[in-house]
Amino acid sequence: MIVTIDGPAGSGKSTTARRAAARLDYVYLDTGAMYRAVALGFLRAEAPATPSGANAALPTLEVDVQYEGEAMQVFLGDEEVTDRIRTAEVGSIVSDISTLAPVRAYMVEQQRRIGREQAERHGGVVLDGRDTGTVVFPEAPVKIFMVADIDERARRRLQEYEAAGEEVTFDEVRTEIEERDRQDRTRNIAPLRRADDATVFDTTDCTIAEQVGFVVDRVKAHEERGT
Ligand code: C5P
Repeated sequence: MIVTIDGPAGSGKSTTARRAAARLDYVYLDTGAMYRAVALGFLRAEAPATPSGANAALPTLEVDVQYEGEAMQVFLGDEEVTDRIRTAEVGSIVSDISTLAPVRAYMVEQQRRIGREQAERHGGVVLDGRDTGTVVFPEAPVKIFMVADIDERARRRLQEYEAAGEEVTFDEVRTEIEERDRQDRTRNIAPLRRADDATVFDTTDCTIAEQVGFVVDRVKAHEERGT
C-alpha cells in the first residue's frame, strides 16, 4: 500500500504522515527531508542553485534514508543529517535547488526505490512531499492533498524553529513559506499541485489526532473495499 500526502509547507503533512504510518505499522518517507539533504550538500560544496552548480555538486552527493525502528534518518553520504537539515538556511535555498531537473530525477529515482522496498518489507509506506501523488507514485491508491491557512502554517513552522533553537520571527517564517510555496507551485518540473484523484483536506482547525485519524480512515476504507 502506498499512501501519498502532498501540500504546501506547514500544512501538517509531516507530523500526520509520520503518525499515520506508525498507527498503520507502515514506514514513513519524508521526501522533503531528502531535498533538504541535497540542499545541505550544495551549501557545503558552495555550489549555486544553477544547472552548472548541479553538474558540479550532484555527482559528489549521495542521499539515502535508514530506519531506526519507526524513525526515519536521512544520510548525506555516510553522515546522518536528520537534524542538520532543519535550519532556516537550508529552508531558504531548498526550493531553488528543487527546481533543478537533475536533482529531481535523482530524488524521484531514490524515492521510488525506497518506497517499493519498504512497502514490500512493511506492507505500506506513507510518503509526504510536493509531487509524491503526481510524479513519484501516480498510481498510489490513497492520495491526500493537505492545505491550511497561511498564518496557521507560519505559526506551526515557527514553533518547529523555536523548538530547534533557531531565532526567527513570525513575519520571517511567514515570508519564507509564502516564497517557498510560490516557487514550488510555479516551477516547470513537478510543481506543487493536487493530483486529480487526491482528496483535499483542510487542516487549519484540526488537531493532529484528527489529521492522523483522517488518513488512517481513508486507508482502512480502501482496504475494506478490497481495491
Ligand atoms: O517538506 P519540506 O517543507 O521539508 O520540503 C522542503 C522543500 O523541498 C519544499 O519547499 C520543496 O521545494 C522541496 N520538495 C519538493 N518535492 C517534494 C518534497 C519537497 O520539491 N516531493
